[in-house]
This record gives sequence, structure tokens and C-alpha cells, in this order.
Amino acid sequence: MKYRMKAKFEKEREEPRNCNPLPSSNSIFEVTLRLDRPHVDMNAATSTCRKRDLTGLPCCHVIGCSTWLKQDVEDLLHPFFKKKKYTQVYQGAILPCQG
Ligand SMILES: [Zn+2]
Repeated sequence: MKYRMKAKFEKEREEPRNCNPLPSSNSIFEVTLRLDRPHVDMNAATSTCRKRDLTGLPCCHVIGCSTWLKQDVEDLLHPFFKKKKYTQVYQGAILPCQG
């Protein structure tokens, strides 16, 4: 993971200490964080704050729920940020161009 995105991810990991997830079902939660109360779907690892839709990183609400469920937070990362996907994308040769 690039340093800049890793720093953002680490910052998001610190915030869930203040999250209070309230389970509605096995995978749907309402998370209270200060005055905010977004809904979290753990099947898709998304939240109504839409942070993951924008960045690909799980937001603090999703991380809070995964901690409550005792799941590994690293599994919630988009495959784009993983080394396996990086090597898969660049495994082919990049042919030189005439210029
Ligand atoms: Zn969120």
C-alpha cells in the first residue's frame, strides 16, 4: 500500500475507539460516533457516509463494526491496495514505444 493511503488507513483505524456499533442484524449496524449515526452493511463493508465508495478504504464506522465482530480489518481493504493485485496488474511486459 502506498505510504499516503496507508497513513489515511492508520488514521481511520484510530477513530473507532469512540464508535458504538448497535447491531440490527448479523451484518447491519447503526454506529454512533459523536453526533453522527450512519448505517453499516458488513456484507459489502459499506457505510452510508460513503467514504469507502470514494477512497476504497474502509471508514472508521466499518472498522468499528469489524472490531466489534472480531474480524480482521485488513480483509476489508479493496483488492486494489494489495500486493497480489499490484503484481497481477504489472505481470505482463510493457513494450517499448517508438518515439
Ligand atoms: Zn462510514
